[in-house]
Amino acid sequence: MSPERAVRPGRPPHTPLRPTWCCRTDGQPWPCGEARLVLRAEYEHNPTGLSVYLAGLMYEAMRDLYHLNPYDAPAPQALFARFLAWTRPRHHPTPTRRSCSHSS
Ligand SMILES: [Zn+2]
Repeated sequence: MSPERAVRPGRPPHTPLRPTWCCRTDGQPWPCGEARLVLRAEYEHNPTGLSVYLAGLMYEAMRDLYHLNPYDAPAPQALFARFLAWTRPRHHPTPTRRSCSHSS
């Protein structure tokens, strides 16, 4: 359970620089676009695992960022959007309709 998992051989590692949680390669708020691509690919078959993993990092980032700047840290909603909102599957399968009351 470490951001170092986002490293891919032959590519600059898009890992978070603590305690500012900016990408050490492009300086964007982590997870940057590239980190999200890598993570999404890595957890392609385990989206729940990705959410759990990032939820843990979100708490660490929250702690670091509030410690760093208690008066101007990102709002919890902003951190949620940054770390977790994008991990939700883009396509929600249509729920299978199951009815007890009638069948066709
Ligand atoms: Zn990056």
